Amino acid sequence: MIEDLSKKYENGDGIQDINLVVNSGEILTLLGPSGCGKSTLLRSIGGFERVTTGRILIAEKDVTKQPPEKRSTIMVFQGYNLWERMTVFENLEFGLKLRKVSKSERKQRIMEMLTMLGIEAMAAEYPQQLSGGQQQRVAIGRALVLRPEILLLDEPYSALDAKIRVQMREELKKIQRRLQITIIFVTHDQEEAMMLSTRIAVMKKGEIVQVGTPSEIYNDPKDIYVASFIGEMNFVTADTDRVAAFRPEDAHITSAQEAGENTYHGTVQQSTQMGHYSQLMVKLEEQTIVLFAEKDAFENYPEGTDIFFEVKKMQNFIKGVEK
Ligand code: ADP
Ligand code: MG
Repeated sequence: MIEDLSKKYENGDGIQDINLVVNSGEILTLLGPSGCGKSTLLRSIGGFERVTTGRILIAEKDVTKQPPEKRSTIMVFQGYNLWERMTVFENLEFGLKLRKVSKSERKQRIMEMLTMLGIEAMAAEYPQQLSGGQQQRVAIGRALVLRPEILLLDEPYSALDAKIRVQMREELKKIQRRLQITIIFVTHDQEEAMMLSTRIAVMKKGEIVQVGTPSEIYNDPKDIYVASFIGEMNFVTADTDRVAAFRPEDAHITSAQEAGENTYHGTVQQSTQMGHYSQLMVKLEEQTIVLFAEKDAFENYPEGTDIFFEVKKMQNFIKGVEK
């Protein structure tokens, strides 16, 4: 649990007014653009930052002033920091030695962990002989072998290519379920957050703006910032101090005859087949919005076509809460 936490660097940057409860056994993601304070918050939880105000409690114990090794957290930093002169096995063994775990138990725990991660055959290799995905597994394994209550992961997949990233997420979810640990995960990638998280905390300029399950955040964003950060959202002006917004999937193409109260009219600017659906960019009077339609719809609505669409779910936001 985090209470009224702030961390100010000398230059005035940092995080403030952080209140957050992390539930045991969940994957909680800190999501926000670069520079919003995700790493600062994660490092504070792990004990790598001296916080300015507030408290951090883990299982009701105040750890605010405790060094990292006294906490039940283990952090995996963004660049992995594997020891290049040690084999994979030795990388995992190091922390266990420090904790005075016996040799036979070390071996057993390490091989069990490497097997779970599918890299048991690499035990005798050195980090630079491994692929990016394998190195990432070693970094996670090195943390998990110490059996933390809370695993802290700072953008662990940002260096991996898209396909491996998806695979790693699936693996992480499985491991988390199997070991029943709590994970605090940092990413700037909203899709990654949606896929992985039990709950998401959306951050902006050093503060948490909204906390909720992926579907709460997606279906009921608190303000324009959250609405535009998560998924695709179209904004149309409602009046001087409000903005109306809708998701592309909440609009349906209709005809002039059927036009009702929530029907809008525009001109197709761009018509693209995206794979299993078509995407239409539609110019309204002031703004351009995005619509999704069936796979082959792009053929029926070429550039320049007049189009009517009905919005099934419109949300209103107060202006002034900008990106
Ligand atoms: P994120 O991880 O979301 O990209 P950070 O937590 O790294 O954000 O940074 C939050 C803010 O604090 C940024 O404005 C960044 O420039 C600043 N910052 C981060 N680390 C330091 C530091 N060691 N000294 C001074 N400013 C820092
Ligand atoms: Mg960061």
